[in-house]
Amino acid sequence: KLQLKNVTKTFGTKVVLDCLNLSVETGSILSIVGPSGVGKTTLLRTILGLEKVDRGQFFLDGIAFTPQDHSQNNVGIVFQDYRLFPNLSVMDNLILAPVRVQKKSSIQAQQEAQNLLDLLQISEQAQQYPFQLSGGQKQRVAIARSLILRPKILCYDEPTSALDSQNRQQVANLLQQFQKLSMTQLVVTHDLDFARQVSDQMFELRSEQ
Ligand code: ATP
Repeated sequence: KLQLKNVTKTFGTKVVLDCLNLSVETGSILSIVGPSGVGKTTLLRTILGLEKVDRGQFFLDGIAFTPQDHSQNNVGIVFQDYRLFPNLSVMDNLILAPVRVQKKSSIQAQQEAQNLLDLLQISEQAQQYPFQLSGGQKQRVAIARSLILRPKILCYDEPTSALDSQNRQQVANLLQQFQKLSMTQLVVTHDLDFARQVSDQMFELRSEQ
């Protein structure tokens, strides 16, 4: 279970997150919705440790954690624009962090990457470069690149914004598939239909919160 307690984040005099409390059961999908500029991305960034909070605590299964401490691989992210490394093949995008950061052997990392590419049905693209992929394929590579680090929590920022309805449905199916692996998933989205379809819980951020 992921819990945020009294999380406050300001930029200058602007209070974006005001004493926010949130609880997400392990293995569930939480959608974070709300009007533009209300702080949805900021909330994800605080959980990822990309934004330091002014106040507040984070707990995973009752144990406090510091989002800036990446040693435990608690949280992963799939960015809206995917952020693949353009000069690396799909396979090399996937194995970079496992080999460089986690010090896994290249063989082992490649095996794990291959399993994920099979699961996400992009194994045929393993040796291609990002510019050769469709939007939906790039997103699945981005998802695989996060999954290979086995995060307890996987965040998505606007996962459907660049997708057509077929790819959108495919992402919905994937999220539901990952749910069975007891991964907790947080989805920031403007797409209310998608949010209703995939999530167990919706969290609406309001400007007066
Ligand atoms: P959208 O739906 O448009 O993506 P959002 O709900 O994700 O919006 P955020 O991007 O989290 O909103 O921004 C929340 C508020 O914080 C906005 O008013 C934004 O201008 C402000 N903000 C975000 N990042 C910074 C920053 N680094 N410095 C100053 N202000 C910021």
